[in-house]
Amino acid sequence: MKEKIPNRLVSKLIMKCPSCHKGNMFTNKGIFPLNDLLKMPERCPVCNQKYEIEVGFWYGTGYVSYAISVGTIFIIAILYALTVGFSYKNNSIYFFIGVMIATLAILQPWIMRYSRVLYLYVFVKYGQSKKSSIE
Ligand SMILES: [Zn+2]
Repeated sequence: MKEKIPNRLVSKLIMKCPSCHKGNMFTNKGIFPLNDLLKMPERCPVCNQKYEIEVGFWYGTGYVSYAISVGTIFIIAILYALTVGFSYKNNSIYFFIGVMIATLAILQPWIMRYSRVLYLYVFVKYGQSKKSSIE
């Protein structure tokens, strides 16, 4: 029987290693303390997959977090339009900007983490740590 591969989407959501879907990508489960928000082990504790594939690898996550932020703004705008609604007659657009900034600020820690998770999933496939010999 084939070994069941854990669902990729679920593994992303719970921030597991892209290669084995078992090891945690981040040292701390929660986002606190914020100083250690992006603290990761150098390699996966379960399968030894290297996380920072090359020096400066994480710079690319800037694009991912930008995309997530834009997507989030889009979703907030739709929700806002459906609930509060936009109008010229009042200041709803300014209120919207406030809500948007506050939401993005609150979500920032998760956006930063998920951009690393998504970014690493692009480069590391399931079972990769077994194929590429240990560097
Ligand atoms: Zn792993």
